[in-house]
Amino acid sequence: MARVIVVGAGVVGLTCAVRLLEDGHRVDVLARDLPLETTSAVAAALWYPYRAYPFERVTAWSAAGYHRFADLARDEGTGVVMRPGTEVHRSRTPDPWWAPAVPGLTRLTDPPVPYADGWTFTAPVVEMPVYLRWLVHEVEQGGGTLTRMALQSLPLGADAVVNASGLGARLMATDPSLLPVRGQVVYVDQVGLDRWWLDAAGPVYVVPRSHDIVVGGTDDEGEWDRTPDPDVAKQILERAVALVPELGRARVRGHRVGLRPARPQVRLEAEDVGGTRVVHCYGHGGAGGTLSWGCADEVAALVRA
Ligand SMILES: Cc1cc2nc3c(=O)[nH]c(=O)nc-3n(C[C@H](O)[C@H](O)[C@H](O)COP(=O)(O)OP(=O)(O)OC[C@H]3O[C@@H](n4cnc5c(N)ncnc54)[C@H](O)[C@@H]3O)c2cc1C
Repeated sequence: MARVIVVGAGVVGLTCAVRLLEDGHRVDVLARDLPLETTSAVAAALWYPYRAYPFERVTAWSAAGYHRFADLARDEGTGVVMRPGTEVHRSRTPDPWWAPAVPGLTRLTDPPVPYADGWTFTAPVVEMPVYLRWLVHEVEQGGGTLTRMALQSLPLGADAVVNASGLGARLMATDPSLLPVRGQVVYVDQVGLDRWWLDAAGPVYVVPRSHDIVVGGTDDEGEWDRTPDPDVAKQILERAVALVPELGRARVRGHRVGLRPARPQVRLEAEDVGGTRVVHCYGHGGAGGTLSWGCADEVAALVRA
């Protein structure tokens, strides 16, 4: 059993904490922003490997996440639901690179106008505010702690430190390759939608949750502005209504912006810093929820090594 400090209380840090507690470690989570204040709380969050690399590792992590979320969907109170949905394309498109990670991906024989191609599959939808609370509960039930603390650098001295600081790793790991990819979403009333929809070209996505629907989105690389833009919100809604006409009667509930922590590749590796084993786990781009369990398994193996 080791004493492990996890830096970061987004979906990546909390999942690592839960996974490490499962292995019997003592775990303390330190974070500047508490779970509902993080980028993770803004995620839609559809299981979907988006803007995360390299393809081979992301496919394996996504597959692990799919199975763990499918299990969690069977439990009360996790905020995870398995929902069927459709991805559409305006031209003929080969199977997605991550197809091996998802069971039951079926190509459309008759795509809706004006689309030329697409596929359907059942994906985990993770209602982040509910799920993040559930993860915190799991950390506490497992004997771990969560403390708000803004750090200037990684805290050394524990047996291992997990750096799950998302965009904060620009400072924590002096990593300028990490960039924000701004995503704006609009929340609308739930109007009886039970399928998700995605037009990856937009990106346009419509993700139904229990009491509302998350409508997106944007992906502006290098943009740090976290204030929702009303003109952008209007465009998001117009594109979404074109894809899912039922949304035309949905009342707008709110707006939010999150900054995806994007990197040429997810950084998941261990290094020795002043005698402390540091396991870096950040740079999950648009797929932090999707990759969280697969990455947490690998983090746990690196802590054990
Ligand atoms: C609009 C939008 C839609 C998205 N949709 C999806 C989706 O459908 N599916 C999906 O899988 N993903 C989605 N994502 C991506 C997902 O949100 C991110 O990949 C994920 O949140 C990254 O999680 P994280 O835990 O690494 O980072 P974060 O959630 O940003 O958490 C980082 C943590 O590190 C802490 N930290 C940082 N610096 C310091 C410091 N100096 N001291 C102490 N603590 C620090 C922060 O306070 C925070 O607690 C979406 C993102 C956006 C913006």
